[in-house]
Amino acid sequence: MSELAYKRTNVYEVADEKLMKEIFDYAEGYKVFLDEGKTEREVCAFVEAEAKKQGYVPFEFGTKLKAGDKVYYNNRGKNIYLIKVGKADVAKDGIRILASHIDSPRIDLKQVPLYESEGIAFGKTHYYGGIRKYQWATIPLALHGTVALADGSKLNVKIGEGENDPVFYISDLLPHLAAKQNVKPLGEALGGEDLNIWFGNIPYTAAKDEKDKTVKENLLRILNEKYGMKEADFLSAELSLVPAYNAKDIGFDRGLIGAYGHDDRVCSYPAYTALFDEASDEHTVMVVLADKEEIGSEGTTGMQCAIFTDLINEIASSFGVTSAAVRAKSKCLSADVNAGYDPNFPDVCEKLNSAYVSHGAGITKFTGARGKSGSSDADAEYVGYLRKLFDENGVIWQTGELGRVDVGGGGTVAKFIANMNIDTIDIGVPVISMHAPYEVISKADLYEEYLAFRAFIK
Ligand code: MN
Ligand code: MN
Repeated sequence: MSELAYKRTNVYEVADEKLMKEIFDYAEGYKVFLDEGKTEREVCAFVEAEAKKQGYVPFEFGTKLKAGDKVYYNNRGKNIYLIKVGKADVAKDGIRILASHIDSPRIDLKQVPLYESEGIAFGKTHYYGGIRKYQWATIPLALHGTVALADGSKLNVKIGEGENDPVFYISDLLPHLAAKQNVKPLGEALGGEDLNIWFGNIPYTAAKDEKDKTVKENLLRILNEKYGMKEADFLSAELSLVPAYNAKDIGFDRGLIGAYGHDDRVCSYPAYTALFDEASDEHTVMVVLADKEEIGSEGTTGMQCAIFTDLINEIASSFGVTSAAVRAKSKCLSADVNAGYDPNFPDVCEKLNSAYVSHGAGITKFTGARGKSGSSDADAEYVGYLRKLFDENGVIWQTGELGRVDVGGGGTVAKFIANMNIDTIDIGVPVISMHAPYEVISKADLYEEYLAFRAFIK
């Protein structure tokens, strides 16, 4: 091919022995992170502990920050901000922001979940985020979450991850009896109210009262014995069913990783590790690990919450400058995954503008759907700035659009940050089977994403 033509680079094709070792070593830490944090609360706690080890201290509003400070703000245990204050003047240099999200699609329990039918105790659910419902049946599920108990104390729940833990289950029809279901559109095979969790089936035979000899009563007694819970405690609980699988290498050559929740922990992990590993003290850097992206970034822990600009205000006022001045000079990488090109489903992608697995960090200039609607669409100048930066730092990157123009689309937190007058673009790892209980990414892309972040904050 002519030197004038553009061609993507396959990381695994060009990687030397040293880079291959770095890629594979880095992936080991990521797999631990995935297994330890399957909900935003768990990721938040994990990253807070890591930040403390790196000398980060809790930030209190009203504290005057100075160059060299390393602080974090744990927002309600579900969203965390890490801030490293640089030497450069924030009014001139702004803040380098890496924003990703730590919530992933899952199945949440309803507030009154328990019922019994024909000797089986079930839990009613309402799914969280965009899932293909049929994918969540007949797989092992673990129960994670938090219960605010009647006495004001808090109970953290994690059942189904230990070697000897029980797991939970959503049933589906056997093929022998599925003739009617088989001809339904795929999206209607299982409805939202069909995602009922199998919780147990042994009745409480020791009950004095005949009407209490039920499976539900037995379940309540187990919950009470083990956790001190009563049925009413579900009213003030956030309990989620997530896949009970752990992260594993995929394929004979181990170049890929399968796991639950790559979207968007595959960007969160490189974001905070890049911050910790980058020794440069020039720029002020903020890493945001946001909650609620999968349901619209609303609420106190989502990217649209004022806490984001409140923290920028605190940085600005520490140096006696306006928040507006700081935001005008700030730059953000909205770190979120993109759809990787899957040769098994070529029809939904446009080949020239897809993100390819193992071809590096994927820049998405615009998201949105049907005519870029709902996208913040970054400037050519900002893409140009990053292009130069990444090329100079040897980062392998590509661009990719989320599917063919009229097929679908999606959004990220990018627009909420861009709306604050901050140059923002999406950059992420291509994912195969996004939002499925087990998604796949390339170790090479994970590492290039990390290198891109390091170049950005250096
Ligand atoms: Mn995402
Ligand atoms: Mn998503």
